[in-house]
Amino acid sequence: METTEKDILRGGQFLVKETKCEDVFTPEDFSEEQKMMKDAVMEFNEREIIAHKPRFEAKDYALTEEVMRKAGELGFLGVAVPEAYSGLGMGFVSTCLTCDYISSGTGSFSTAFGAHTGIGTMPITLYGTEEQKQKYVPKLATGEWFGAYCLTEPGAGSDANSGKTTAELSADGKSYKINGQKMWISNAGFCSLMIVFARIEDDKNITGFIVEYDKDNPNGITLGEEEHKLGIRASSTRQVFFNDTVVPVENMLAGRGEGFKIAMNALNVGRIKLAAACLDSQRRILTTAVQYANERKQFKTPISEFGAIKVKLAEMAASAYAGESATYRAAKNIEDRIAIREASGNTHQEAELKGVEEYAIECSILKVAVSEDVQNCADEGIQIFGGMGFSEETPMEAAWRDARIARIYEGTNEINRMLSVGMLVKKAMKGHVDLLGPAQAVQEELMGIPSFDTPDYSELFSEEKEMIKKLKKTFLMVAGGAVQKYGPQLEDHQQLLIAAADILIEIYMAESAILRTEKNAKRFGEEAQSAQIAMAKLYLYHAVDIVEEKGKESIISFAEGDEQRMMLMGLKRFTKYANYPDIVDLRKEVAEKVKAENKYCF
Ligand SMILES: Cc1cc2nc3c(=O)[nH]c(=O)nc-3n(C[C@H](O)[C@H](O)[C@H](O)COP(=O)(O)OP(=O)(O)OC[C@H]3O[C@@H](n4cnc5c(N)ncnc54)[C@H](O)[C@@H]3O)c2cc1C
Repeated sequence: METTEKDILRGGQFLVKETKCEDVFTPEDFSEEQKMMKDAVMEFNEREIIAHKPRFEAKDYALTEEVMRKAGELGFLGVAVPEAYSGLGMGFVSTCLTCDYISSGTGSFSTAFGAHTGIGTMPITLYGTEEQKQKYVPKLATGEWFGAYCLTEPGAGSDANSGKTTAELSADGKSYKINGQKMWISNAGFCSLMIVFARIEDDKNITGFIVEYDKDNPNGITLGEEEHKLGIRASSTRQVFFNDTVVPVENMLAGRGEGFKIAMNALNVGRIKLAAACLDSQRRILTTAVQYANERKQFKTPISEFGAIKVKLAEMAASAYAGESATYRAAKNIEDRIAIREASGNTHQEAELKGVEEYAIECSILKVAVSEDVQNCADEGIQIFGGMGFSEETPMEAAWRDARIARIYEGTNEINRMLSVGMLVKKAMKGHVDLLGPAQAVQEELMGIPSFDTPDYSELFSEEKEMIKKLKKTFLMVAGGAVQKYGPQLEDHQQLLIAAADILIEIYMAESAILRTEKNAKRFGEEAQSAQIAMAKLYLYHAVDIVEEKGKESIISFAEGDEQRMMLMGLKRFTKYANYPDIVDLRKEVAEKVKAENKYCF
């Protein structure tokens, strides 16, 4: 059945509209084609990446380039690229799936892959003219050329639009001369094409250019030395200097001053793909950790028998499971939105651009949540390995170091937290998401008398879904209260924005895990989904705690007197279970399952 406009939520609407479990896409819904893709990518990862792990850790940059070339030969670099430009033209879910399963071997390769297929290629597929796409995209999709993305400068990181690199039009009007310095450029050491952002005259916004790079004919481009980094050691990261680099006018991307918009939209796509790229790393970390825990004996007992270790195994599994649930839910929303737009007459290019832009809030949420989960997972992985976890001889320390970068690039997690709430408030102002109505309803509820009925929560997840509704009310109460108090100046109250973002993130992640499990329990049976049910409940339990903490800290900062008392009472009501889950039991169930299967098995 075709998905129609009214079936899928707009970006951000998850907060105010209920989603039926049948309407979420889950990893269990992969098509045969997607499963084949997954198998092919996993096999490639084992053969070409994992088998050579020590070489990546020893900064073998040439190996990264060689494996990228092989990925190109197999079509993996062109999954998202339309067939007309030598790509595979697969949908957004397949794009995320490829990123997911190709990324767990080493962060070095996944960074090279992500930078090339995402920010190195997408600006052209999303904003390029037909000529630009014909000329460059086939080369990028097949791996004949590699792409890099030059936005960051020494003085312009998070404030990306403040770059000092200039582009000056020649007297004959045929070319621009680019001058400036870029920093932290992934793939710089082996790329043939750079997406470069520069300012023309005193323009408010930067402009994007496609710049070819040939080492033998460098056109004023020089590279700094490879940066020595904490992790992703075989990913090429260099400074790039432009000295009177001549770029033909036809290589401008979109229009003059459109660069900031291009940069931001390319990052939106990059963010969900980055989340996907952290998923298989989490699965692999857990699998490696449980295998070790089952083998390693202390006090004559495998350490996996100890409750202290079971807690870790269960929490690691639950966070990976929630990450998968939310990433594929959003990926399919994007895919459907693109299809709907194409069906209504948009070109694929316009449809893709608008489709991803629509879910920019979800992309930021995912980037933050999953990048932090993979880091925590790797940290606990080290702990399970004990002293050996601290050694370069086990995979945990590299996993931990590699995970660290995901919280920094593609917009730091601080910036993405603030963006997620900022974009939501903007959508509400534009009337795309009605926050005001639901926020007023919550205020009225706060002033009314609470019901003392004891609802029937015997049906699977009935209480959990009620909890999710209450967490959404908490967000509306807290964010609504803060908007009322500070109006547009809320921007200056970053601590509040960050707290609101944390609430938003927890709601999306927990709801996604519950909906996926509910859908699967209905079709595969509750017994078969017993450990998944436990993980969804476990994740929600923590989400409720975080919402309570962040809600309280916000309310006591912006509200006073009666208003504060009323909101705190509301918070208590909205974060209270009628029947608390026995989380010790939930963790035991998840850990026992993982232990018995000796791997992440969901
Ligand atoms: C390994 C690696 C690869 C990279 N690859 C690329 C690439 O290929 N292309 C590219 O263009 N860039 C790349 N980057 C750059 C990366 O995107 C930036 O490092 C990142 O955007 C942060 O910018 P910054 O380092 O200047 O930090 P800053 O912007 O100086 O931030 C420092 C701290 O201040 C916080 N902060 C900054 N502004 C605010 C604010 N307004 N409110 C609250 N907190 C704030 C940040 O969250 C952060 O915690 C890469 C970086 C690394 C380390």
